[in-house]
Amino acid sequence: MLNKKVNEPLSDDAIVEKFNSYLKERGKRRTPERYEILNHVLAFRKQFTVDDLKQTMDNGHFRVSQATLYYTMDLLVEADILRRLSTGTNAVAFERVDNVRHIHLLCQECGKVKLVKDQNFMAYMNALRFPAFTASYYNLTVYGICNDCARRIKRLQREAKKATNQ
Ligand SMILES: [Zn+2]
Repeated sequence: MLNKKVNEPLSDDAIVEKFNSYLKERGKRRTPERYEILNHVLAFRKQFTVDDLKQTMDNGHFRVSQATLYYTMDLLVEADILRRLSTGTNAVAFERVDNVRHIHLLCQECGKVKLVKDQNFMAYMNALRFPAFTASYYNLTVYGICNDCARRIKRLQREAKKATNQ
């Protein structure tokens, strides 16, 4: 644990163990469905939606109710295994909190997240040491506005201006 590199994500086993302790500590039921959902979640290497998850589970002929699926996602977020990526749009994306291979660019208008790589940043983070603290992982989200939204807003502003000039 001590000499673990900062930018190394947790192993799948470690995550299952984390979920296990979380359920135990909170006195929540450790149902096979919840672990099966987690297994499918771990197969995603990048962000995914509940629809994506449902699709892969259906493909694997594993049937689970929509309610169970959503509730388990909430549990996984609470257990600090997953995090929600979007803000206020209907397509909520999820991702492992220890996804540290990318920088997240989050558009505050539409909630879309783009993943970008930056080797210099990764190398810098990996070399960082903190006093009296051992880091396990980090993640970086850059908040801003995507080009699609910037263009749309500009167009709306132009149209509003035109309307007032008439
Ligand atoms: Zn946007």
